[in-house]
Amino acid sequence: METRRQAPATVFLDADNTLWDTDGVFAAAQLHLLAAVESAAGRQSVAEDRLAFVRAADQRIAEHHHAGLRYPPRLLIAALADALHGEDVARAARLALVGSGKERIAEDVMGVIEAAYFSDLGHAPAIRPGVEAGLLALEAAGCNVLIITEAARAKVERTAKRLGLDTHFTRIVEGAKRPDLYRRILRLTGTREAFMVGDQLDRDIAPAKAAGLETIYFPGGFQPRWLPAVGKVGPDYTIASFAEVPDIVLAERRAITGS
Ligand SMILES: [Mg+2]
Repeated sequence: METRRQAPATVFLDADNTLWDTDGVFAAAQLHLLAAVESAAGRQSVAEDRLAFVRAADQRIAEHHHAGLRYPPRLLIAALADALHGEDVARAARLALVGSGKERIAEDVMGVIEAAYFSDLGHAPAIRPGVEAGLLALEAAGCNVLIITEAARAKVERTAKRLGLDTHFTRIVEGAKRPDLYRRILRLTGTREAFMVGDQLDRDIAPAKAAGLETIYFPGGFQPRWLPAVGKVGPDYTIASFAEVPDIVLAERRAITGS
């Protein structure tokens, strides 16, 4: 019996917090920002978990600001300064959002803290565990590897280049991660076997699953508090290292061809 030649599997990869630790860059920048706000406000946070303290304010603001997580950082600076003076974090965030918090930090100091924050955010992220090995193995297996991102394509390309990962994938697709985007790309590439690897259940896993892809959940260190539970979305696989991806993809292929 002749062996049917298979089209290579298509593997979609989320970029931020899947291939590299974007969140780690945010964490470092947020901790640095807190230290700067403390020094400007003349008050130390008593929070045991300093990052959680910043993020409580950050997420409250992001949830209610029209720009979401891209809200202007001075709102965070104002909210933290208020919270350091004993204001409840949720209330401090609300006051910052409507611009009626106490002006505890001078405008020019706020500008300096904000500039330092933006500079920190420009640091290169660390590559997540197993990414280089996993990408090399996918490449060796002849997989069609696509990065799918809702961030600006140029930014993802720049980070990939900076980290030396840019030669390991076919292309970067920028767009809303809706089921029809996956379906359209799969029609174009002519592959039936497809996988999606991502760190977000709602944005990476759920829509890919709805499009009929096999889903691989690679949780990162930080999950926003409004995320759905793992059980509700039900990814096909959950991994601790990206190096597990090629094994899953190749095992699925063996199962399908029965070889
Ligand atoms: Mg992500």
